[in-house]
Amino acid sequence: MTSDQTILVAGAGGFIGGHLVADLLKKGHTRIRAVDLKPLPGWFQRFPQVECKVLNLQELGNCLEAVNGCDVVYNLAADMGGMGFIEKNKALCMLSVLINTHLLMASKELGVQRYFYSSSACVYAGYKQKNNDIPGLKEEDAYPADPEDGYGWEKLFSERMCRHFREDYGIRTRVARFHNCYGPFGTYDGGREKAPAAVCRKIIAAKLAGKSEIEIWGDGQQTRTFMYVDDCVKGIHRLMDSDVVEPINLGSDEMVSINQLVDIVEKIAGVKMKRNYNLSAPKGVRGRSSDNTFIKKSLGWAPDTTLREGMKKTYAWILKQMTKK
Ligand code: NAD
Repeated sequence: MTSDQTILVAGAGGFIGGHLVADLLKKGHTRIRAVDLKPLPGWFQRFPQVECKVLNLQELGNCLEAVNGCDVVYNLAADMGGMGFIEKNKALCMLSVLINTHLLMASKELGVQRYFYSSSACVYAGYKQKNNDIPGLKEEDAYPADPEDGYGWEKLFSERMCRHFREDYGIRTRVARFHNCYGPFGTYDGGREKAPAAVCRKIIAAKLAGKSEIEIWGDGQQTRTFMYVDDCVKGIHRLMDSDVVEPINLGSDEMVSINQLVDIVEKIAGVKMKRNYNLSAPKGVRGRSSDNTFIKKSLGWAPDTTLREGMKKTYAWILKQMTKK
């Protein structure tokens, strides 16, 4: 990609979108348009040299305005959150289909050359994720389809929409299936946060209140992998520069249980907490990990930041925000 191209980052006020804009600036891009639904003060990261627009991208007219004059589009906009949010807001999650559909229609209309779509590991079939020690999910494990209700179905449908816009209209679409991404400048409270940020917040809140117990959702034995946000951004660039047209896993393969994640955060915080397991809280699938065979083969790389290394930076940022408050 050349630095004279005009780039749209949709969802730029959010976590990954904000990091992507920061990285594009670092790479020397000067013509960046950042768009999000949230009012500007709520954006995680903002840069004075970037054109920022507040638009609801569920509307086709707003997508045409956002895409106008752009060569490349990154779609990171979605109404989403952690398990606590997506299990209780299936209709809202499904409505994100309007964002991707209208952005693709606008991209076709306005001659966009390249298009990135952020899919999710939630597209993977539930029947393959029933145990906590399952092997990593391979790209073909999305079918026969049985994705996460609501959020996962929307992602799976939108992946196919990207494929058909590529096949029928020649837009170079690229699709990455993110597995749990975490890092600074993201949601850590309010109900949309994911496990890594939630665990940091709970431990910090207990420490600040002089308490020594926290609540864990589920029995703590459910397994996941977590990708540091710098790896996510690196993967997006590598994928966009590649010839990989099929959806690809973008995630770490360092699988841990939620209890092991808590162990890591406790070590960083220098505390030991009593864990109260809430078995009726939303907990998602029993086990999930990323099989990185395809990404290593096709992009010659896979996310490699260790969980301990990434969580140290994430904990430090959340601690700073919470002590500021
Ligand atoms: P985020 O919630 O921090 O960012 C999404 C942004 O989209 C938000 O700022 C939100 O205001 C914006 N948005 C929502 N509806 C909009 C609309 N109608 N018009 C314009 N903007 C709108 O989430 P994130 O973690 O940065 O995720 C980015 C993308 O990656 C999303 O598509 C998400 O589904 C996907 N993803 C994220 C993860 C993860 O672990 N963070 C995992 C899998 C997939």
